[in-house]
Amino acid sequence: MKYYIWTAGCQMNMADSQRVASELEKMGYRHSDSYREADVIVLNTCVVRQSAEDKATGFLWSLKPHKESNPNKVLALMGCMVGVKGGKKLTRTFPHVDVFMPPSEPGPLVDFLVARQTEEAELTRRYRLQDEDLSLVLPLHEKNNLVTAHVPIIYGCNHVCTYCIIPARRGIERSRPVGEIAAEVQSLVAQGVREVTLLGQIVDRYGYDVPDGPRLPDLLRVLNDIDGLHRIRFLTSHPNYMNDRLLDAVTELPKVCEHIEVPNQAGDDLVLDRMKREYTMAQYYALIRRVRERMPEVSIATDIIVGFPGETEAQFQRTLDTLAELKLDVVHVAMYSPRPGTVSGKIMADDVPPEEKKRRLDAVNDLQEGIVAEINAGLLGRTLEVLVEEKQRGRWRGRTRTNKLVFFEDNSDKDWRGELVDLEITWTGPWSLRGSLPGQQPLVPDDQPLMISLAVG
Ligand code: SAH
Repeated sequence: MKYYIWTAGCQMNMADSQRVASELEKMGYRHSDSYREADVIVLNTCVVRQSAEDKATGFLWSLKPHKESNPNKVLALMGCMVGVKGGKKLTRTFPHVDVFMPPSEPGPLVDFLVARQTEEAELTRRYRLQDEDLSLVLPLHEKNNLVTAHVPIIYGCNHVCTYCIIPARRGIERSRPVGEIAAEVQSLVAQGVREVTLLGQIVDRYGYDVPDGPRLPDLLRVLNDIDGLHRIRFLTSHPNYMNDRLLDAVTELPKVCEHIEVPNQAGDDLVLDRMKREYTMAQYYALIRRVRERMPEVSIATDIIVGFPGETEAQFQRTLDTLAELKLDVVHVAMYSPRPGTVSGKIMADDVPPEEKKRRLDAVNDLQEGIVAEINAGLLGRTLEVLVEEKQRGRWRGRTRTNKLVFFEDNSDKDWRGELVDLEITWTGPWSLRGSLPGQQPLVPDDQPLMISLAVG
């Protein structure tokens, strides 16, 4: 019996899909790359922008004939399209869907499969035996192959950024207990994982929903002690919770990487206020300064929305000016998309025309490409620690502590996967670097940029 999982959207969805895969593996199902040969098909959806929602509905409709000619297959719809409320309306729109699963909840699918197959006593028995098993089981093909994994630490979001649909779909904040997270990380390490990225919509809010609960710095200290784990990252942070205790933990703990993802969203105070981001540009600048003072090598990623309702040319220019001044390492930029149920979607006119949004998007991307090319050029000739993730078209690929992608070649047949290796950087471009092992010349001259697709979400 096989399962196929399609995942759209953010890293949280990737982690949620991993959790679903784990539950299915425990029940005896095996991974498949093709929905045609799968008995269980899961669509894990994103609705953060209209384009993401369109992609999910498009795929869902395209599966209708397949499901109709294979009625025994199980089709499950998961994620933010369903939402915490369970998407009752969707049952009418998509009658070919068997199960609806809220974000981060494999339960409904597991229950459905168990109930449907009670006559298959073996399956039920096997699953019931492990009912209390919270461990995360990687699919067979990923065991000892997967170097990096995502681990949710806080679900939901209590903020009300006016553009954002996520709080409505993922519910209020719920932090996972430290012990549960540590056990999950330990089980991942036992299966070959060497780096974990801790996830939350606002990850630096970890523990705030529990009175006197442990906070993110405390969790980082616990995880830093796990043997066999090389690196820890976390995302996404909100500027208002990046306090000194957290920055101290990042600075002091050797496994926690100097890489911060802290969305700015807009470079203008009035726009920020209308977005209800609850900080000013002066505060955002001060935060970046504080982070860089402590960690001169830090890399910083941000999110930007262009074309928010009412955003004038002058206000947009302030976003460009901010990016030009701050010179951040990564900018995920998106065109504003009005979402149902959000404050901006309800009461603010989507008045920046699509072609103007696109122009602003391109302007940000063009500016950023130059900035990151320059930042990366500064790394030429440096020796950097790289965690090797996999071999791709004859080259090994990995990442620096600052999350920069590095390719290198090795003519021996050593398996570098999961190893930390010091590489001398021999070529840099905006989207990747190349390095060589100590004492080895690159096999091919480093003149061709590699094409890499960047996931933005
Ligand atoms: N919780 C994170 C990320 C939320 S979603 C945070 O604190 O910001 C990821 C990104 O999608 C956001 O940072 C934002 O830049 C973008 N986004 C969210 N809603 C959007 C919308 N309605 N239109 C366009 N972009 C949006």
